[in-house]
Amino acid sequence: MADFKTHLLVAAAGSGLAATALVMSGPFSHQAVMGYFTLGVIGGLLPDIDSPTSIPIRIAFATLSVVAGFLVAFTFGKHYSLLELLILWAGCFLIIRYGLLNLFTRLTTHRGLIHSIPAGIGFGLATTALVFHGFRSSAIDAWLCGLFVTLGFIVHLLLDEWYSVNLYGKKLLKKSFGTAFCLGSLKQPLGTVALYLTVSGLLLCCPSPRPVAALMADRTQSAVTQRLWPGAAWFQGFLRRVTPASLTSR
Ligand SMILES: [Zn+2]
Repeated sequence: MADFKTHLLVAAAGSGLAATALVMSGPFSHQAVMGYFTLGVIGGLLPDIDSPTSIPIRIAFATLSVVAGFLVAFTFGKHYSLLELLILWAGCFLIIRYGLLNLFTRLTTHRGLIHSIPAGIGFGLATTALVFHGFRSSAIDAWLCGLFVTLGFIVHLLLDEWYSVNLYGKKLLKKSFGTAFCLGSLKQPLGTVALYLTVSGLLLCCPSPRPVAALMADRTQSAVTQRLWPGAAWFQGFLRRVTPASLTSR
């Protein structure tokens, strides 16, 4: 399997490529594109979160515990004393950092259902629904967030698959082949059904994908056909663009 660093690097490359395409194609703000990029990288790390030694999951739980602690403190800030807030904050931190994390690692087996295509789609849909309802974003923004998560996720699965082919060679292709890029698990029929039900449920929580589909079709077509290849000359006006204005005006 590819290790954490490789996954991080490939996720950043894939997500960066998609983000660049977005910048080229449309009226997206740079902050928004940076946000999509980050979500793509996170998506690329998500499939391995069920590993007990997973670095991203430890970071995620540690961050979540700190953030949740602060949120609790802010929410009750007006009503309680500093000492009481500190106790609330610490309690929240401990419950998430130790309680939830332990529960999570016990409930999931590594490369189980989370390491699958439907899970990747589910994480994307959950992101879309959360961004749309939670942050009151536009449908297009919400869908792009979700799409980047799923994109990073799928890139991760493909990379694992590619590694399993390459490490063992074609003749020795064995058990691990096909396990990375799967649609569910026959060993966990109930879990698989639950996963598909969850994904369907999440889809119902998302806004209509029509605007984003129309936008994508339109933009990709124009961007790819018009800007894939350089115009009359390569890097036209590049020198002028990189030379400081003071030099050229002299
Ligand atoms: Zn993996």
